[in-house]
Amino acid sequence: MKPTHIEHIGIAVKSLEESIPFYEKVLGLECYSIEEVKDQKVKTAFFKIGDVKIELLESTDPEGPIGKFIEKKGQGIHHIAYAVDDVNEALKQVEEAGVQLIDKQGRKGAEGLNIGFLHPKSTIGVLTELCDNK
Ligand code: ZN
Repeated sequence: MKPTHIEHIGIAVKSLEESIPFYEKVLGLECYSIEEVKDQKVKTAFFKIGDVKIELLESTDPEGPIGKFIEKKGQGIHHIAYAVDDVNEALKQVEEAGVQLIDKQGRKGAEGLNIGFLHPKSTIGVLTELCDNK
């Protein structure tokens, strides 16, 4: 597996509405998309900086993954997503390397991209996502 770049950095926030002004007004980025990912019980907001995106994640359900994350750790960096040519192939390769997976197979994430998560137990504490590089 050889990632082409960091696709995005996922940041857990309590409220998109309260967080977006920092990214837009202070950092001068533009929110180009807000999308609900029902599967993940989140609403996402995306910003682009060069090839890299910032993905803000607001929980839509306290029992969802972001709701639980914020309750345990508070707001902050939630995951790093690496762009790869083929998510399913990359998941197979990291599993063969002994990494514990959250997703054995790619699934649809925000922006319609194929994504898969590796378990933070196997990735030195950083929740790691693999993501299509399209
Ligand atoms: Zn992500």
